[in-house]
Amino acid sequence: MLNSDLAKIFYEIADILEMQHVQWKPAAYRKAARAIESLPEDVADVFKKKGVEGLKEISGVGEGLAAKIVEYLTTKRIKEYDELKKKIPRHLSILIDIPGLGPKHAELLHKKLGINNIEDLKKAIAAHKLAKLSGFGAKSEENIAKGLELFAQGTARTLLGTALPIAEALIMQIKQVKGIGNIEVAGSVRRRKETIGDIDILVTAKDPKPIMERFTHLPDVKRIMAQGPTKSSILLKNNLQVDCRVLEEKSYGAALNYFTGSKEHNIVLREIAIKKGFKLSEYGLFNRKTNAFVAGRTEEEVYKKLGLPYIPPELRENAGEIEAARQGKLPVLVEEKDLKGDLHMHTTYSDGNNSTEEMIKAAIARGYEYIAITDHSPSVHIAHGMTEKRLVKQLAEIEKLQKKYKDITILAGSEVDILPNGSMDYSDKILKRLDWVIGSVHSAFKMPRDKMTRRICKAMENPYVRVIGHPSGRLMGKREPYDVDMKAVFQMAKKTGTFLEIDSQPPRLDLKDVHIRAAIDAGVTLVIDSDAHDVNQLRFISLGLMTARRGWATKKDIANCLPLDKFLKLKK
Ligand SMILES: [Zn+2]
Ligand SMILES: [Zn+2]
Repeated sequence: MLNSDLAKIFYEIADILEMQHVQWKPAAYRKAARAIESLPEDVADVFKKKGVEGLKEISGVGEGLAAKIVEYLTTKRIKEYDELKKKIPRHLSILIDIPGLGPKHAELLHKKLGINNIEDLKKAIAAHKLAKLSGFGAKSEENIAKGLELFAQGTARTLLGTALPIAEALIMQIKQVKGIGNIEVAGSVRRRKETIGDIDILVTAKDPKPIMERFTHLPDVKRIMAQGPTKSSILLKNNLQVDCRVLEEKSYGAALNYFTGSKEHNIVLREIAIKKGFKLSEYGLFNRKTNAFVAGRTEEEVYKKLGLPYIPPELRENAGEIEAARQGKLPVLVEEKDLKGDLHMHTTYSDGNNSTEEMIKAAIARGYEYIAITDHSPSVHIAHGMTEKRLVKQLAEIEKLQKKYKDITILAGSEVDILPNGSMDYSDKILKRLDWVIGSVHSAFKMPRDKMTRRICKAMENPYVRVIGHPSGRLMGKREPYDVDMKAVFQMAKKTGTFLEIDSQPPRLDLKDVHIRAAIDAGVTLVIDSDAHDVNQLRFISLGLMTARRGWATKKDIANCLPLDKFLKLKK
């Protein structure tokens, strides 16, 4: 949990330094921030085990930044950060977090309209004061209003990629109490929803007291919201609320079902129960006449008594899963072990943290049969997109590395920009030399719907483009998806045999669950990619996999579930 706190400080330092027009340092801070937030191990544990040398093994962390981390671990502060914060006015530090409002505009709003905080900004927008201000206008007022909305959503809900590791860490800590039977996270985290409101943890134990004690005294508790004999709520330091309930073994399955939801799914289950002469609650399934206990120990037995097979939590949205279960037509959902490769990752050739060789070694360690190395094309300046010359150099390096690492097949690829007119950022001549081409939109996001649809469809008609990366372009909490006719995209993907990607970066999860299901229904084949920018981000692929499961995907819907020989045969 500390990792995300520390990364946040590093990102903020980078922002402030950038405002002061400091060169290089912001990029260095951001690189380290990304490596730290991707780290599977708590940075404090790394320091405990291996000292400063261990910290320096983190990509982007040299002597100077390692010292900052040690300072934070030992004093809970970073002096440079405190001093930088003093230098920038408070209104700026609040306003620059709003998507679409950079430091320059924030300063202007402060000077011209006296806007100091979010409330001021809301009022000014309501009175259309920005629209009349030179340098702004109606369009940019609208964008900032949208940014405010996104900001509010982002602070109200937490990304699955943030919440899940926190839930797992909390469970590990609570598990240390003796006498625990079952322990599991319920709620939307268990359903793997892309964002979650709070975390629900269910536990079985004979004596709830020590569990409630441990739970309310976890190291990251900011405030105890409620403490009872079998149920307590805490607020973590990062403002996430967590509830913990201790249950009897006998009703654990019924409670897990009840607290996993969704509400809509549970309503239908209760109706089925009534029709069968039962009553279903968080305590179990009971005979309606005699009140005798019928089932409740496991979810499986509850579903069975209702005449249904077990329904995986990811499907419990009352979106047709109960009918499918009744008819024996539930999909056999794709699993992590089915993934044979990862087809989207970056290296230091563009904006990744690790070398090509380091990424290959990390992929081998994950047991993949194949990967694609896919750095950015030249148009993405911000991500150090590669010129054709540098790409050719990387191709030669990959060829050499392939000879050295025979256990894995390395596809030489690229994530190539789809330019606003739908043409590709590299010439066909160079695309032809690549084993794997991802076409992605990284610019001109605000095109009208028909133009954006044509742009993406045209890219799919290019014979070398194998897959469309993050097809909707959304960044949850930061950027809306671009306006595109997904149905038309699915049709063109089917027609041209182009894959669509499920990008696993935590704020992306793009395609999202409902789009995945619609794409599969339209006959489109998908790929699940990590889009890793660091060796430690390869594991993000599990988030994309969870999203695929929410989209009813089976392993035959996912191209990178195929073994290498069959995958290579999937030519366009
Ligand atoms: Zn991209
Ligand atoms: Zn990428």
